[in-house]
Amino acid sequence: MSELERLAAEIAQCTRCLLHRGRTRAVPGEGPLEAEIMFIGEAPGFHEDQQGRPFVGAAGKFLDELLETIGLKRDEVFIANVIKCRPPGNRDPLPEEIEACKPFLDRQIEIIRPRLIVTLGRFSMARAFPKGRISHLHGQPRKLKGVVYYPMYHPAAALHQPSLRRTLEEDIQRIPEILQQLDQIPEFEVPAEVEQLSLF
Ligand code: URA
Repeated sequence: MSELERLAAEIAQCTRCLLHRGRTRAVPGEGPLEAEIMFIGEAPGFHEDQQGRPFVGAAGKFLDELLETIGLKRDEVFIANVIKCRPPGNRDPLPEEIEACKPFLDRQIEIIRPRLIVTLGRFSMARAFPKGRISHLHGQPRKLKGVVYYPMYHPAAALHQPSLRRTLEEDIQRIPEILQQLDQIPEFEVPAEVEQLSLF
């Protein structure tokens, strides 16, 4: 069994937060060990909970379409979520659920060592930029402690708000160019006063 498979088995048995009580299946995430890009969504929804696989519902179909526009197939990238079990009624994840699940995502990142982490939605973005606003940060790569993060809106947001569809289509187009230029991206420092004011 590979380390990733062992981790997935551990996630499937996890009882660190109350979400395990309502789950049909945990959704550890999937993709090749050698993936260059890791996409991190928010949490499993109904279909993901049923199948134990990430992004297999309507948002996932849109993500597949977006990937296709830059010549990528879903099995070439790693797809994970901030939390691995479905919140009841698809509500937002609670801070304690995110905290309980964090070691799993940390280990997935450590094992895969992606060259680029694409965050989908604000909960995923908050891992790297807790004070950032997605409306300001989406579509721009930033390097934090040597890892390049690229925030994008969540594909599900575009299903509810059609104007975001175009934004996602534009933001994903930049990924091939960003991958070519990762080394040129300078380390990002959050200015202290900005961090306090939550303005950036
Ligand atoms: N939305 C997410 O954030 N993750 C999934 O896996 C599916 C929908």
